[in-house]
Amino acid sequence: MTAHRKHHPRSCIQRVTLQREEGGKGIIDISNLHNKQIISLRKFFFDRAQHSTLHSIVTQSDTRLTPLNLHDRNQQRNENITDTKDKITAWQRKSLHGRHRHDLQLPHVDKKASNAWLLRGELFPETEAFMIAIQDQVIDTKNYQKHIIRRSNTTTDFCRHCHSSSETIQHITGACKSIAQTDYKHRHDQVAAIIHQYIAFKHKFISEKQPYYKYKPQSVFENDSYRIYWDRTIITDKTVHYNRPDITVLDKHNKSVTLIDIAICNTHNLLTTHTDKTTKYTDLSVEIKTQWQVHNVKTVPIILSTTGVIPKTLHASLRALDIHPSAYTLLQKAVILNTCRIVRKFLSMS
Ligand SMILES: [Zn+2]
Repeated sequence: MTAHRKHHPRSCIQRVTLQREEGGKGIIDISNLHNKQIISLRKFFFDRAQHSTLHSIVTQSDTRLTPLNLHDRNQQRNENITDTKDKITAWQRKSLHGRHRHDLQLPHVDKKASNAWLLRGELFPETEAFMIAIQDQVIDTKNYQKHIIRRSNTTTDFCRHCHSSSETIQHITGACKSIAQTDYKHRHDQVAAIIHQYIAFKHKFISEKQPYYKYKPQSVFENDSYRIYWDRTIITDKTVHYNRPDITVLDKHNKSVTLIDIAICNTHNLLTTHTDKTTKYTDLSVEIKTQWQVHNVKTVPIILSTTGVIPKTLHASLRALDIHPSAYTLLQKAVILNTCRIVRKFLSMS
């Protein structure tokens, strides 16, 4: 698997055979299969030996003549079964690999949804392995070279692009200023476009859905019932600091406005990003309410982590927008593909 780039050489080995719903690759654990055979064959001979002379003689004479080693009734080394719990415990204990597992256990994280991309298995094995390596934090960043493998010719762990902070994997996936306006924006816009397309389709502004990477949101959609803005500054009488939500939806009949803002942040920032996004448009909401004469203005944040970790709040946000609950899977796919592309591109420039 390593030779074919389907397993990063430094990635967590337990994840290879751990079930996909637990965050693994779900490959059949052949050493467990082998050992199960040993266990059942030994049981078979011991049971038969009680009644059959042939089996009894075989049992007595097998002094390491076969892997069963029937002569010895004590538990054999090849009778060990590593169960799911053992694998998870081993994964969790590892200081680097274990961090992602720890993130999955956080109360605000939906573990099942966060692992859904693995269960769907729709990515190329190489891409899947790369994302797992990113989650395992074994990517060859300057920080990794200097502090983890202690490579002698790595003198500094500062970012090769912005030179302003340590080049960790989190710095590359979501915190480097030098690519904020290009690569991060592209990822953000693709996720925003998915949401926009769902809404545009629901309100019948478009009749057919396109693959999300081809869809270009129109800056304004309007009919008798709705008006939808894409990435547009809302002009207000009073100056407000944040006045450009990613998507603005005016429901003319119900006299209500929904401000949608998308954020793709690193996993450790999920909670603060959610708080920031919900309070960001408080001033704008007040202004819109009086200027557009609507009854209510609500802000709906759409937040996913750069490694596809899904906060529980995302489901509530999709519900608030009346978007199908399974839509998060497409958002997750877009984020994962973009993050893989970002990390690859980042490392290829030295
Ligand atoms: Zn940087």
